[in-house]
Amino acid sequence: MFASTITIARVAGVEIGINWTWIGIFVLILWSLAGVEFPAAAPGRPGWAYAAMGVAATACFFTSLVLHELGHALQARRDGVQIEGITLWLFGGVAKFAGRFPSAGAEFRIAIAGPLVTLVLGMCFGAAAALWPRSGAVQAVLAWLAYINLALLAFNLLPAIPLDGGRVLRSALWARSGNLASATHRATLVGGVVAALMIGAGLVTVLYGGLGGLWLALIGWFVLEAAGAEERDVVIHDALGGATVASLMTVNPVTVAADESLDEMAARLRGTPGHTAYPVVNAASEVVGLMPLQALAEVPHAEWITNTVGARMIPADDVVWVSPPTPARDALDLMLERESGRAVVLEGGRLVGILSLTDVTRAVARGRDAIQLRTHRRVHSASAAERE
Ligand SMILES: [Zn+2]
Repeated sequence: MFASTITIARVAGVEIGINWTWIGIFVLILWSLAGVEFPAAAPGRPGWAYAAMGVAATACFFTSLVLHELGHALQARRDGVQIEGITLWLFGGVAKFAGRFPSAGAEFRIAIAGPLVTLVLGMCFGAAAALWPRSGAVQAVLAWLAYINLALLAFNLLPAIPLDGGRVLRSALWARSGNLASATHRATLVGGVVAALMIGAGLVTVLYGGLGGLWLALIGWFVLEAAGAEERDVVIHDALGGATVASLMTVNPVTVAADESLDEMAARLRGTPGHTAYPVVNAASEVVGLMPLQALAEVPHAEWITNTVGARMIPADDVVWVSPPTPARDALDLMLERESGRAVVLEGGRLVGILSLTDVTRAVARGRDAIQLRTHRRVHSASAAERE
């Protein structure tokens, strides 16, 4: 989703990037402003004047989006949540947080900070448009900026996670119940209804010839997808509970040597219990990489003798490294982020184990069963108590 992002600036230490999709949006907004909106609002001007108005309005809108996201980011920093950066993409701005929200109050403050910035911007542009002495080009641009910021505000406040309104809703439910998982579940249900309505309204609009409805349907679909991902994330973290890497890893894994040939490696591993990847060690017994068995399949059998493990392994820089006390949920996040199926476990620089995505997903399944069983028992004992 955030691939092909270019960093364009750093503001207050927060990296701001734009996704290539934004270039398309920029052109689209510019085109509709200069070609339709402004000629209607301030008629009788030459084409270059509308182009200049369009560029000014688009640039100010772009800045408004960045300021909205900076509002989230700076509040997040005050609440001790790490910010990875701000990306502008197809549907506006997204502030990426590296950590999770420490409390319901923190999530509320971080979620509401962006809309507050947009509200202030909308009111300032509105006041400027109203107070501007002459009607004409400048006033048309100011009025459009007021309108677009207030529209953005309304959209962002829809109660659908991951939109700001959805986060506000979840933080309220979270504060009331003290349970993040159930709050997320309820907020996701509400968000799902809102997203379905958006998709429905969008498609109906398209049926009646309004192409803009496609946009609404697309955003609804995005909200639905993102909300599902958010809920899965919370369920997984909940199921893993306090499990650490140490409790899930395979200890003392079989290693292969960096300088041995693929042929030697295959011969040596024959008859040992199969794994999908092996840590690679050098002559000094330091771990220098990870050798996935899959890499063997990519080399023709005749070339196994001339290829060394070192030449075919995943180099150390691309390996996910964890230590035994690392929480399993953090290890999982790292593996997913780096798109790696395994993590190598080191303790004081020494190889102690290997953790696979399968190890973690099995633990998630066990954890979910345990949670369900607990809820089941609670329901049963509650109904037993009622009968007495
Ligand atoms: Zn926001």
